[in-house]
Amino acid sequence: MNTLLLAITAAALVTLVALLLFPQQDVDEDDARREDERISPLLRGINYLLSDQPDRALQEMVQVARLRSEAADVYMALGEMFRARGEYGRAVRIHQNLLARPDLPDDMKLEAHYALAVDFQTGGLLDRALKQYSKLLELKPDHVPALKASLRIREQSSEWLEAEALLSRLEQVQNTSYRAHRAYLFAQMAEKCLQEGAIEDAGHYAARATELEPSCAPACFVLFELALRGGQWQQAGEILRSLAEHNREHFPLILPYMMKYEDYYQQEGRRLLLDIWQRSHDEELALSWMEHVGASDRDAARALQKELAFEPANLRARLRIEAVFEDEQRPLFARAWRRQVNNYICEQCGVGVKTLRWQCPQCHAWGSMHPQKGDIA
Ligand SMILES: [Zn+2]
Repeated sequence: MNTLLLAITAAALVTLVALLLFPQQDVDEDDARREDERISPLLRGINYLLSDQPDRALQEMVQVARLRSEAADVYMALGEMFRARGEYGRAVRIHQNLLARPDLPDDMKLEAHYALAVDFQTGGLLDRALKQYSKLLELKPDHVPALKASLRIREQSSEWLEAEALLSRLEQVQNTSYRAHRAYLFAQMAEKCLQEGAIEDAGHYAARATELEPSCAPACFVLFELALRGGQWQQAGEILRSLAEHNREHFPLILPYMMKYEDYYQQEGRRLLLDIWQRSHDEELALSWMEHVGASDRDAARALQKELAFEPANLRARLRIEAVFEDEQRPLFARAWRRQVNNYICEQCGVGVKTLRWQCPQCHAWGSMHPQKGDIA
């Protein structure tokens, strides 16, 4: 059943329950006729719903709202329906009108604030959505859906410190720890500072992230980059080894950072990578390493494969190696496959992406995307 049908079902049931629980007092004949008039569009609506005609069911619900203009619950349900149909403007108007009612009960007011915020958010008006969520949170500071939705908007807008503040509130309200999530927010802040040239702040936030979660790879990359910029090779080596120990799956992503510093790579980094390879024999490390080297020098990639004595154990690994060695001028199957294959999969929701993201685009979990491994299904 789609969202619209669910919304209409909810609306119809809410209204039906309201009518059954609060029948009109002292029913005379006229009242009974009016009651029939009020109920019949609802029954027709349910009928349309059962025969899978949501648009006609919606028309009937509009009629119910017209006849029961005092009933806030019907308007709430109608707003939900319009939003589910993508008619955000109409949903917004309904919820704004509700909020303008001086007699609106407190619980309904909270619901209307929340619904209006969701209208704005689904319609892409994130600033207005945030304002609405704030108004709601002033009335009810422990409203978890509003806190989560605000957090999501701050993350979407790359406002990492504001997101972190919301995460703290969620931790208090839910009495739980979002340690790893917080580490990723600090890591994002560190990356932002690094891009803006605020080196000291970048180091500060990256260090906070790795204190919270040593496996937080993007924070390690910032610290690694800062160490190499400062010529502190020993420190860079410590960061590298720590990441290899705590997060083997994301460790190979350190390669592009390392290879920007050719001297370090040739004189120190290469040896450390070989050492880690000898101990782990991690397929992803060997493949990524060959891909990075092969991007500028295919002969060097061939030599590296020999040095690592790496033999692909499955078709996926074989194709990745073939893509490295295929002639760019005359590309064959492997390069085309490599360009369109999903390299990372979210372990929480299963969505696949070509290039890694620290936050899953579908379920919004942090650090949940891992390299595709094993044979091609
Ligand atoms: Zn996911």
